[in-house]
Amino acid sequence: MAENYYYSIASGSSGNCGLYMADGTAILIDLGVSLRRITTALKALSLTLEDISAVVLTHEHIDHVKGLPMFLKKAKAPVFATRGTAEAFEEKNPEYADRLNIFDSGERFWVRDVDVVPFPTPHDAAESTGYIFEHGGSRFGFATDLGFVPRDAAELLRGCEMVVLESNHDPHMLQAGPYPYSLKMRVAGPSGHLSNPDCAVFAADLVKSGTRTLVLAHLSEKNNMPELARQQTLSALRGLPACEVLVAPKEHMEHPVSFGEEKLCSLSG
Ligand SMILES: [Zn+2]
Ligand SMILES: [Zn+2]
Repeated sequence: MAENYYYSIASGSSGNCGLYMADGTAILIDLGVSLRRITTALKALSLTLEDISAVVLTHEHIDHVKGLPMFLKKAKAPVFATRGTAEAFEEKNPEYADRLNIFDSGERFWVRDVDVVPFPTPHDAAESTGYIFEHGGSRFGFATDLGFVPRDAAELLRGCEMVVLESNHDPHMLQAGPYPYSLKMRVAGPSGHLSNPDCAVFAADLVKSGTRTLVLAHLSEKNNMPELARQQTLSALRGLPACEVLVAPKEHMEHPVSFGEEKLCSLSG
């Protein structure tokens, strides 16, 4: 089993949770499915909740915090969130007040030997954030639930070896789809979700800056199809340096996606 990898446990409108692993430091990004689903996925990697070093939250929407109350009840690892996210969660779950570790948006912090760099994302939540994780000269970026890619976020994400990037919807499917008009406007708006074409344009930018693996994430169940999202990004990458493009499935991934030394070995072998 590779020591440096990303493993998507759940992705999409109905729940989000990912595991970043770097030399034994295990960070869960969001807990948007039941704790049972998370522990089952961890078990497939021979991990338990005891192995988790920390949890970081992107924002308080239910598809990102569904399993959080149970996690706070059962697990010991610290959970990090922006003040806005923490307060919004606590308002709905007063019994868990003061249980989250608050960081200032834009202020980096450490989880063991991983340098965590949060950055604000434009989304209709209290204080949503994306993340860069730096470890041993390798940078990993995570950006979902954002209406567009702001300049500062783009700057941080460039140069990341692996990036998990939202490819939420196909604009035509969204327009023709079952959502009420107001929700369509919300999803497509600047505080909504990144569309396939938006994702593709930024993906090309990332690959030019050295990104070798892209994981397309948070796909809408009603307004997207995995192959459509993947093809749109692949076509934007034509003629650019090689980059692996994967789609995070709704359920957990079949295999973790490695980065760093392991990645180089798997590419050459
Ligand atoms: Zn959201
Ligand atoms: Zn979401």
